[in-house]
Amino acid sequence: MVIKEVTTEKHAFIDVNKCVLCGSCQEKCPESAIVYDSENDCFVVLKGRCIGCGICIKCCPYGIPELRDII
Ligand code: SF4
Ligand code: SF4
Repeated sequence: MVIKEVTTEKHAFIDVNKCVLCGSCQEKCPESAIVYDSENDCFVVLKGRCIGCGICIKCCPYGIPELRDII
């Protein structure tokens, strides 16, 4: 029997239409993966830095960040 191991990686996603720009997630992210995009006035997650730890989800007062599969 062949057992196939499937691993999924996730990274955080911030819905810019819901975010109130409080900056809490940016402060707490251990990888400095959340940066402010001054051109579009929003926070974005740098996929190359995010390790999917979920800290930003716990510290957001509105539960806005969510983990999504990396595709
Ligand atoms: S999941 Fe972790 S590493 Fe990724 S943006 Fe959130 S706090 Fe940062
Ligand atoms: S903690 Fe939540 S509301 Fe605050 S900047 Fe991050 S995603 Fe936006």
